[in-house]
Amino acid sequence: MSFLSKLLFKNKTQDIVSGNSDSILIKGDELRQSVDRIFGRSLFVRLVDTGSCNACENELSALSNPYYDLERFGIKFVASPKHADVIIVTGCLARNMLNPLLKTFENVPEPKFVITAGDCPETGGPFKDSYAVCGPVSKYLKVAMHIKGCPPEPEAIISGFLNFMDIVKISF
Ligand code: SF4
Repeated sequence: MSFLSKLLFKNKTQDIVSGNSDSILIKGDELRQSVDRIFGRSLFVRLVDTGSCNACENELSALSNPYYDLERFGIKFVASPKHADVIIVTGCLARNMLNPLLKTFENVPEPKFVITAGDCPETGGPFKDSYAVCGPVSKYLKVAMHIKGCPPEPEAIISGFLNFMDIVKISF
């Protein structure tokens, strides 16, 4: 391998390890600017799992790993709904999770928004005919954005956040 190929290979490898692929950087840059403009530097997100198979949570967790490093684009997951701007809902909305979901939403300060991640909260997904499911989430809360997929991949979730920014900028 020539010196130049070695150098190119090394840079490419570093990009792959650090999540600096072109599409992630382009979307991330756009996201960073929208978050700055609309939410004032950061968007805080509270996750509510209403009965998922955990695959959606795995994809959401991957956003915090060193590859995607979502926080560099201004989006941070928080523990308390009182600190959140947005709740992101996963799972098919099991009956016993309806009250916790509504209470969490109640505790988010205004202006507040709901995003769903995965097909389950939007349609019930593979669990829609179960007696234990009372979804979809849109029956109880106004949903600003549905991120589709079973589960949605991390990059699809980043695209979902970008689409969400387009929707909320109209209401600001
Ligand atoms: S959308 Fe698919 S991956 Fe996500 S919780 Fe439902 S079944 Fe699991």
